[in-house]
Amino acid sequence: MVDALEHLQPPNTLRLNAQAQALRSVHSVAEIESALAWARAQALPVLPLGEGSNVVLRPQLDALALLVRLSGRELLEEGRDFITLRIGAGENWHALVVWTLSRGYYGLENLALIPGTVGAAPIQNIGAYGREVAPFVVAVHARRVSDGKQLTLSAAECEFAYRDSVFKQALADSVVITHVDLRLARSPATNTEYPALRAALDARGCGDDVNPQQVFDAVVALRRARLPDPALEPNVGSFFKNPIVSHDRAEALRGRYPDLPVFPLDAQHCKLAAAWLIERAGWKGHRAGGVGVHPGHALVLVNYGANAAPVLLALATEIQATVARQFAVQLELEPRVYGVAP
Ligand SMILES: Cc1cc2nc3c(=O)[nH]c(=O)nc-3n(C[C@H](O)[C@H](O)[C@H](O)COP(=O)(O)OP(=O)(O)OC[C@H]3O[C@@H](n4cnc5c(N)ncnc54)[C@H](O)[C@@H]3O)c2cc1C
Repeated sequence: MVDALEHLQPPNTLRLNAQAQALRSVHSVAEIESALAWARAQALPVLPLGEGSNVVLRPQLDALALLVRLSGRELLEEGRDFITLRIGAGENWHALVVWTLSRGYYGLENLALIPGTVGAAPIQNIGAYGREVAPFVVAVHARRVSDGKQLTLSAAECEFAYRDSVFKQALADSVVITHVDLRLARSPATNTEYPALRAALDARGCGDDVNPQQVFDAVVALRRARLPDPALEPNVGSFFKNPIVSHDRAEALRGRYPDLPVFPLDAQHCKLAAAWLIERAGWKGHRAGGVGVHPGHALVLVNYGANAAPVLLALATEIQATVARQFAVQLELEPRVYGVAP
């Protein structure tokens, strides 16, 4: 049941060499059940993967890499104001955004062009340009790796937070998501507060009465202009999360660095721009040993040809150390790291 030995390299947009102990593409719930049963019989952990656009794979993966390829876009409920969709975990996220917009189902415009699959979207609660996927998620359906049991989690049970969810915490690496139920609006309700998006819309001559297609077009243009294409410069998008600190801590830092960007989050906390900290620490455009920090975007680490995770992770550790030294702020990795540590 396991794919041929020469196909043990899982896909990953960093193009890092990695060999899984076993690798299997699954296209249905039945195939997932059978793959999980096989892994249990072999006492192998399971690593579910979509398109590999948010993982750092070390050379040796002692796991069954499960490429989740379930398709399907089912209309569950159609109300006057909302519709509920059940989407197969293997569907491409951007293709879903394009499709929903074409059908007049609104809300996902700001999340256009985020690489990866629908099944991975809840894992880190994907977000961009002022929106996250969390408010659109009604339920997440999954199979438990340990016994194949079917689980359905409500949005509250997913414990969504900034680039975080229960799937990175209590349920980390222990379920395979099969479907995601999303609730979208039937009338446009655009969100254009994010400053870079608002500026892009203004530059395109869009007034206050912006429609979802205009938001989609602006987001796509912004992302194409700003983010390196993984096909040309292998990367996983942001390598670090934006750090969350107390207001007092942010104010103290602002005293020393008046141009430090600070985004208020709640009464106690605010978010700092990791890209600004990394750039200020002198890393933007740094390139050595086949890896580097993108010259146009300090949050993006690029594999220029090193082809193995350790050298990239060593660069990430160095960046974390200098940012901690200079600003006393700890940067946390955004992608998940898998494989046998050296
Ligand atoms: C150029 C670029 C830009 C990006 N921009 C953004 C952005 O703006 N906002 C953002 O939030 N992210 C962004 N990302 C990160 C990435 O696109 C998202 O995290 C995406 O959701 C990952 O999807 P994937 O299918 O590639 O997941 P993978 O990388 O394959 O997996 C990511 C994690 O999800 C788990 N997983 C995947 N599928 C399943 C499943 N079916 N069941 C259980 N677990 C699963 C994996 O085990 C792993 O832990 C960007 C990445 C790139 C390369």
